[in-house]
Amino acid sequence: MRWEWERSRNGIQYLTIPEWSKWGIKVAFSSREGGVSRSPYHSLNLALHVNDSTKDVLHNREIFLAELGYRMDDIVVAEQVHGIKVKAITEMDKGRGMQDLLSAIPKCDSMITSEDVGLMCFFADCVPIYFYCPQIGLIGIAHAGWKGTAHKIVKEVLTRIKLAGGSAEGCYAAIGPCIGACCYEVDEHVAIIFKENFNNVSTILTETAEGKYKLDLVKANQEILISEGILPENICCAELCTACQADHFYSYRRDGITGRMAALIIKEKKFIYLAFLRSIMEE
Ligand SMILES: [Zn+2]
Repeated sequence: MRWEWERSRNGIQYLTIPEWSKWGIKVAFSSREGGVSRSPYHSLNLALHVNDSTKDVLHNREIFLAELGYRMDDIVVAEQVHGIKVKAITEMDKGRGMQDLLSAIPKCDSMITSEDVGLMCFFADCVPIYFYCPQIGLIGIAHAGWKGTAHKIVKEVLTRIKLAGGSAEGCYAAIGPCIGACCYEVDEHVAIIFKENFNNVSTILTETAEGKYKLDLVKANQEILISEGILPENICCAELCTACQADHFYSYRRDGITGRMAALIIKEKKFIYLAFLRSIMEE
């Protein structure tokens, strides 16, 4: 199970997991190439909250989704606030946050759904974590920066999955590109929260100078997922650093004012159609 680049003829590139596609679950993590936004957002900025031109962002969203075979009305976007709240999304929410900021699902950094609706969050260094629980047909997405990681948003997602009748052992998780320990230095005030909240903190934090640490957000999230019961072989990590790869990715730490990549999870249309056909045949 691994992430792979998908490259289209019109210049759009995104990462996906072909193995999940075979199960009927499309995951995508966009790159910065192939869009219409101008510097410092060039070019496929997909987020409205970073002061880019709204017209350009909506155009970019259209281009990106068309490449995947979806429309704006198929997707839901949340107002990300670096918290740990998880919201259950239904088909009634379709299209929220896609044309404007105001209609987004307010103040939440994770969404889950069992329905046929796509979930999208935005990233420039924070960790995108995707979930799929085949037992209950549930998909989910989480946005975890250092705060969401330290306060264990992925644990909140798994608690919701268990409450809905799924089990962590039956779940799959994927971690997309994010800032690596190679480029992510934090101060004592961040380190101290990780020291308090994690058992194996030596694998997550490396002290480089007095009061300075390299923080490994991927390892921290992996540790939470595994301690909550997800099998290590069911976690698929992209192992790509957004700050190292300026050609492919925006990085807030590297660039400050910049664009955002999108992480999307949605059920594949062909699988929804086949399920629909089966339901008719059974009647
Ligand atoms: Zn790096």
